[in-house]
Amino acid sequence: MAEDGLILRIRPPEGRLSSAQAQGLAALARVQGLGRFSLTTRANLQMRGVALAQHEALLDGLHALGLLDADAGREQARNIVVTPFWRRGDGTLALAQALAAALPNLPPLPEKFGFAVDSGARPVLGDVSADIRLERDAAGRLLVRADGAAAGEVVTEAVPALLRLARWFLESDGAPGRRGRMRRHLAAGHVPPEADTVPAEAAAPAVPGRCEGGMLVGFAFGEMEAECLAALAAVAQEIRLTPWRAVFLPGVDTLPEMPGVILNPDDPMWRVYACTGAPHCAQAFAPTRHLAAALAGYLPAGARLHVSGCGKGCAHPAPAEFTLIAGESGFTFNDGRAGLDPAALCSCPVLIFGSE
Ligand code: SF4
Repeated sequence: MAEDGLILRIRPPEGRLSSAQAQGLAALARVQGLGRFSLTTRANLQMRGVALAQHEALLDGLHALGLLDADAGREQARNIVVTPFWRRGDGTLALAQALAAALPNLPPLPEKFGFAVDSGARPVLGDVSADIRLERDAAGRLLVRADGAAAGEVVTEAVPALLRLARWFLESDGAPGRRGRMRRHLAAGHVPPEADTVPAEAAAPAVPGRCEGGMLVGFAFGEMEAECLAALAAVAQEIRLTPWRAVFLPGVDTLPEMPGVILNPDDPMWRVYACTGAPHCAQAFAPTRHLAAALAGYLPAGARLHVSGCGKGCAHPAPAEFTLIAGESGFTFNDGRAGLDPAALCSCPVLIFGSE
C-alpha cells in the first residue's frame, strides 16, 4: 500500500509477454482507469494507484491472462531476471524455467534475494541486482557466479549448481532473520565452497534503438502508457521486459510513430532517473520527476542525473554523475561518486528549491 493506493507487481514468467497477454494487460489497465505501467529494475511491471475495491478484479484478469502464480510464496520465490536477448536454441529459456520450477524446493530466501539468468551470447545483467548469476565465460561455457565474486564455477548442470550456491548462502548464515545479500556475505569474508577460477566476462551496456535480434524501446522514468503497450503488442509477437526501463521486441526492426518512447541512446531522458517521489510515496520529501525532466536538457553528454525523493535511491541504486536527494530542507546535491550515503553528503553544497 502506498500513498496513492495499492502497488500491484506483475512478474511474467521468464520476463516475457505474448502479444495477446500484453493486449490483455493494456485492456485491464484501461478498464480499471489506471492507464499506465512502471517498468522496474527487476524487469517486472507495476501498476500504481490500485484501489482496494479493484484488487480482486485485477487478480481475476491476471489469472485469465496466465500471469498469476498459484500462491504468493511461489511468486516471491520466482525472483529471476532473464537476459532479454536470449535466442531460441541457446538454452536460456529452458534454464530459467527449470530454475523457477526448482526454487520452491529451497528453504525461504531473503525477500530481495534473486537470480540473474544471463546466459545469452554475452552477459548484459552485470549491473542488475542479483545474488547468484548464471553467465557464460569467454569460451561459451556456463558459469555460476556468486554476486560480488570476480570469478565463477564452470558447470554442465546449471540448476543444481545454482541451488547449491543458494543453500550454501543460507547454511553459512548469510540470511539471519531472513535478511542478507550475497555480495555483503562475501565482503564479510565468507567464501563459497566451489573453486572460483573462471573470470566473469564484462557486461555489455544496453542502449535503446535497433540492436542485434530486435529493438530495445526505452521509456522516460520507466513509465509506459497502456496505449503504448497495446501499440507495441500490435507490432511484436513477444515483448520481453528488461531491468533498464525498456522493453525488447525480438524480430522487430521498425516501429510506427509512437509518442513517449526512447529510441535514441543520445536522448537525455535515457540518462535521467527519478523515483515516483511525492505525493505518491510516503517516504518522499519532495516531488522528483518534474525537476528531473526540467534538468535533463542541461546534462553534459553521457552524464547521468538521478533525482531521488529520499536517501533510499530506489530509481537508480548505482552511482550517477549527478545526484539530487530530497531531504527535510530541500535537495542535497552531489556528483554521484559517493552514491547515496548521507554521511558522505555532509560536506557537499546544498541546493534549496522553493515550492516551484
Ligand atoms: S527513493 Fe525514497 S521517495 Fe523515492 S520511491 Fe524510494 S522510498 Fe520513495
